[in-house]
Amino acid sequence: MNNLSNVVIPQETIGILGGGQLGQMMAIAAKQMGYKVGILDPTPNAPAAQVSDFQIIANYDDQEAINSLANKSDVITYEFENVDQNTIQKIEDKVLVPQKLNELIITSHRKHEKDFLFNNDLPVVNYKYVSNKEELTSAVNQIGFPSILKTCEGGYDGHDQIDINNERDMVYASNNLSDREWLLEQKVSFSKEVSIMVARNSDNQIETFPLSENIHKNHILHTSIIPGRVPSSVHEQAKNIAVKIAKKLSLVGVLGIEFFLLPNNQLIVNEMAPRPHNSGHYTIEACNISQFEAHIRCVCGLSIPKIKMDHKAVMVNLLGKNVLKARKELKNNPNWHLHDYGKAEVRVGRKMGHITVIGNSIEDLLGKVKQFK
Ligand code: AMP
Repeated sequence: MNNLSNVVIPQETIGILGGGQLGQMMAIAAKQMGYKVGILDPTPNAPAAQVSDFQIIANYDDQEAINSLANKSDVITYEFENVDQNTIQKIEDKVLVPQKLNELIITSHRKHEKDFLFNNDLPVVNYKYVSNKEELTSAVNQIGFPSILKTCEGGYDGHDQIDINNERDMVYASNNLSDREWLLEQKVSFSKEVSIMVARNSDNQIETFPLSENIHKNHILHTSIIPGRVPSSVHEQAKNIAVKIAKKLSLVGVLGIEFFLLPNNQLIVNEMAPRPHNSGHYTIEACNISQFEAHIRCVCGLSIPKIKMDHKAVMVNLLGKNVLKARKELKNNPNWHLHDYGKAEVRVGRKMGHITVIGNSIEDLLGKVKQFK
């Protein structure tokens, strides 16, 4: 194994760090293309392992286990941005890691991410770095109320965030800073949240997928509507921003970019994820290639076709017990494309699966999944 050329061909092995649903859908795309797939994940029989050739059961910072995955693989990719950067660095001379550390360093730390965007003249909210009480007071004085305090590392789906709407919230936040790094962001009133997936390979071929309009509940993505119901100038704006980010990052693979749309139709980048994204799951059924196939093609050094979308789509996440309902009701819903991730334990708010429906009318499509509201 250990092919150090830039192209990985079918029958060779893709190692994926992380065995959740994103790894699972990457693995399905890779298997369909004839690759062998190995997963590293601490949970036995993780969703991605259920559709792969082998799993190494170990923590993400277990260097020996990561070395072992590297030894068995021709290319390594990851399904989430909180991969231990040191462990990746140590395998870079053993195996192809096309995404490089750059993408991880920038996207896994909110300050690095915001600085990268700001320094490249891309639109971001006002923000200030905070690591102690004095910095928090000064940041709130500059940014004002309402604002949101977010941890620089490790937060997702609204975890580790504190709304700061008044003095009392500020005192609360001040008492709960612990020794973490934070970013204070101005809270913007947006009219919609939208996202775009961009794919780039090492030959600088760049493709974007159609823009999703995203509806969140309790900070978790609930529904994506594609194409997003926004003026064509907004689609164009998102595409231009995505292409610029892909170039500036020297992206290899797929990157998801989340935006806030302001009432004046101006986009602001909220955050980026250096991997396929939940709001891009619709691409499996609605596009000529999925975001997962695009990712595999890019990290394997293959070319990517021009992205085309043949249908409109609505995707709804099956959170917690909604997956049980979906399993029961599947029999009478032939139009549902149900993806059940095979997670062992159903927990409130946990992403257990999703349903995509495709067709010509967004209203009709929303009606087909209305029971998951
Ligand atoms: P995040 O984890 O940064 O994606 O934040 C989760 C959700 O919180 C977003 O999808 C928004 O709905 C909301 N949110 C985060 N940051 C801001 C902000 N600066 N202004 C307004 N809403 C925000």
